[in-house]
Amino acid sequence: MAELEAVIGLEIHVQLSTRSKMFCGCAVSFGDEPNVHTCPICLAHPGVLPVPNEEAIRSALKIGLALDCEIAPRSIFHRKNYFYPDNPKAYQISQYDVPICGPGRLGEVRITRAHLEEDAAKTIHVGASGRIHGSAASLVDFNRAGTPLVEIVTEPDLRSAADAADWARLLRETVRQLGVSDVNMEEGSLRVDANVSVRPAGSTELGTKTELKNMNSFRFLQRGIEAELGRQREVIGAGGRVEQETLHFDPASGDLTPLRSKEEAHDYRYFPEPDLVAIAPTAAMLAEARESLPELPAARMARYEAELGLDEAQARLLAGDPEQAGYFEAVVAAVGEAAEPRVVANWVTGDLTAALRASEDAERPEAGPLADLIGAVASKQVSHAGGKQVLAILVADGDADVAEIVEREGLAQIGGDDGELAGIVAAAIAADPDAAQQIRSGNGKAIGAIVGAVMRETKGRADGGEVNRLIREQLGM
Ligand code: ADP
Ligand code: ZN
Ligand code: MG
Repeated sequence: MAELEAVIGLEIHVQLSTRSKMFCGCAVSFGDEPNVHTCPICLAHPGVLPVPNEEAIRSALKIGLALDCEIAPRSIFHRKNYFYPDNPKAYQISQYDVPICGPGRLGEVRITRAHLEEDAAKTIHVGASGRIHGSAASLVDFNRAGTPLVEIVTEPDLRSAADAADWARLLRETVRQLGVSDVNMEEGSLRVDANVSVRPAGSTELGTKTELKNMNSFRFLQRGIEAELGRQREVIGAGGRVEQETLHFDPASGDLTPLRSKEEAHDYRYFPEPDLVAIAPTAAMLAEARESLPELPAARMARYEAELGLDEAQARLLAGDPEQAGYFEAVVAAVGEAAEPRVVANWVTGDLTAALRASEDAERPEAGPLADLIGAVASKQVSHAGGKQVLAILVADGDADVAEIVEREGLAQIGGDDGELAGIVAAAIAADPDAAQQIRSGNGKAIGAIVGAVMRETKGRADGGEVNRLIREQLGM
């Protein structure tokens, strides 16, 4: 049977960190005592009227612009009707066919829409202690009821669980940098649902999808999707059909359990919210949102690849961490012409990260000293191995002087024109005639023995490339 390719689309709920709720003045909170941030509006008393939160609308505009979305000149609120104890009005105010943010894109993934809505209350299922007349019971905390949410929906453009998790990380970083949400998956201010299907590779039709709810970390998101893809491939491999349903993934057991069969939009009896007028952002609001956007990870990544010549993996790594990216750029500026940005990226994401992990007291050095070190290695005054020794000292003493360390520790590279390195190489060859013979007869790997001997003799202060060159030269190759 043809290979089955994965097709994944994500729905992401971003809880906005506005001061007050979407339609009332209650504080947006997390972790407070239950039911202290409530009022007649978010408790759905009869006769009250919702008042839209302008800050939430401004936040939604920022998210939409950051995702390259078309912004609707007039978008409208709808009522989504359903009964559940976390939903006191028996409807949720959401958006339906005219969302505030229309089609857009983040990286390789098309955004279908992003709309504003209100969050539900939190239900807490209690065990035996909370039983009422012998039945298990649920408690409701209305602090969360009415918290503003932006729901972002993607097209089914993702093709693997790992890509889905990576893209979700990029989205989180993007929203975090807008400053409109805590984007904390564990606390639920970022909630990701994954829609998953498979289809024969090369097909353009979509298979039947299932929906995985609310995985509370990127790792679980990836594992849940992997598990579900495996299950669907098995079902189809055995001649069965995937049922459209909503599933819960238990990361501890790896089990996928059905939550409910999927409801359709018409089950919700969507209709326009009669108590609210259309959202019509003014030109000034749009301009303000546009001007407030920082350089976002996707744009930064593209710039690192196009202008600084970084490879994709390096660019992604740096762009995903604004703090580290800022540092990287400061070092690139300080290094100037002395080394390529690609080399700086290798130091920052490689050797420096390792040095910082190696000791608890290690701190990132100032950009200047690291730039001096990178320049010294690039110009072969210090070998790479010697450079790492300098780095170990720099992370312990952030503004130490690189030239001084090199001098004091005797790390100046041996090489150059004075013939010292050539002499050491000659001695190493003389001491290991066996290896020399093997290299001459074409065994390229044997050169490692001589290089190793030279490195021991020089305590790592020789340039590996130069040592290789000298060995070949002296063996007449
Ligand atoms: P529903 O009607 O079930 O809400 P939508 O068409 O609104 O479905 O899509 C919801 C999400 O599911 C979107 O992120 C979309 O990209 C994704 N999706 C839709 N169809 C598929 C499919 N066959 N496989 C994977 N994801 C899909
Ligand atoms: Zn309220
Ligand atoms: Mg839908």
